[in-house]
Amino acid sequence: MGYVVPIWSIPALPVAGGADLFPVRRIYCVGRNYAAHVRAMGFDPDREPPFFFSKPADAIVVCADPAAPPAVAYPPATSNFHHEMELVVAIGKGGADIKLEAATDHIFGYAAGLDMTRRDLQFAARDKGRPWDMSKGFDQSAPCGPIAPVARIGHPARGRIELKVNGQTRQKADLGELIWNVPETVAYLSGLVRLEPGDLIYTGTPEGVGPVVRGDLLEGEVEGVGRLSCRIA
Ligand code: MN
Repeated sequence: MGYVVPIWSIPALPVAGGADLFPVRRIYCVGRNYAAHVRAMGFDPDREPPFFFSKPADAIVVCADPAAPPAVAYPPATSNFHHEMELVVAIGKGGADIKLEAATDHIFGYAAGLDMTRRDLQFAARDKGRPWDMSKGFDQSAPCGPIAPVARIGHPARGRIELKVNGQTRQKADLGELIWNVPETVAYLSGLVRLEPGDLIYTGTPEGVGPVVRGDLLEGEVEGVGRLSCRIA
């Protein structure tokens, strides 16, 4: 017996420093995880429990080569397409109800990623109490750089996170400003779903989100982790 439609290839990100690939299983994203961004979105950063949304695995756009930034298509049905620069966690070992002290054992590596957002659709959904899927989980909504393995970089708890658009800094913060840090996020999420190898967690964006237009060059960096770049087409 065979499959009745053609099998697709598993989305994957390159592992920095070699020829290996990290297969992407699911993409979870944390909402409102830097205080200044929470205020900018009109909420109080009072350390409520983290909340999550997701993107399909094939929303990944591989941003491996800064010299050849891949195209990210300006999506349909929006006139307010926003960048959200984020630290991405790559899960290497699965588990449910992971204890805080054990959380880093489950991480294979880290990357710089963009949680691209149709802000107009997100606000409309929010105002009507509707799901965020079409504002967050659309085609090419998850550009991501190479995965830097923990074996090479350790677990970055501090470091600059920055995004430039056409050479101008739009977002700049420090990983130390995360409301829920990486171990807390992994532990909390694993109490909601069993994490599996290949899962990615976008950990939330700092302040400074804003719109992009066709032709814009986005260049992001997470200090000690890596870079990504892409162009809106
Ligand atoms: Mn985000």
